[in-house]
Amino acid sequence: MLRIGEGYDVHTLVDGRPLRLACVEVPAGRGSLGHSDGDAAAHAVCDAILGAMALGDMGAHFPSSEQRWKDADSSVFLREVAAMLAGRGGRLVNLDLTVVLEEPRLSPHLQAMREALAAALGCDLGAVSVKAKSSDGVGPVGRGDAVEARAVVLVEVAPD
Ligand code: MG
Repeated sequence: MLRIGEGYDVHTLVDGRPLRLACVEVPAGRGSLGHSDGDAAAHAVCDAILGAMALGDMGAHFPSSEQRWKDADSSVFLREVAAMLAGRGGRLVNLDLTVVLEEPRLSPHLQAMREALAAALGCDLGAVSVKAKSSDGVGPVGRGDAVEARAVVLVEVAPD
């Protein structure tokens, strides 16, 4: 049976933090604040896959109150969520991710992001789409104070 999932995340951008998006470190003036590495793109993908399985969200599985997730590389979360999907006899059909960031331009990094996500999720590169948008100067993302990510996935799982 096919199931759809949606994920959304936003992180504050601050000086002195690296900017990691979809498991790729992007050279930038500011980076994302977070308990883990603050990878909004990876977190949106995790929430989308969890949502497709009706298994809650990242906060339920990887609470920020737990010290072991402090500064965690978010590829760990992607691998865990992919293992949950596989454990239910499921597979990712496709993933479509949009990252909204005012600067820098992400186009030079999109292919690396696709490859990193496919590697962490254990799926074909052709199943992974990553797009980038700016916020056209509007709102906190437009002011460069935040990064936002939205993801949609389709998964195939065994019938209950
Ligand atoms: Mg997050």
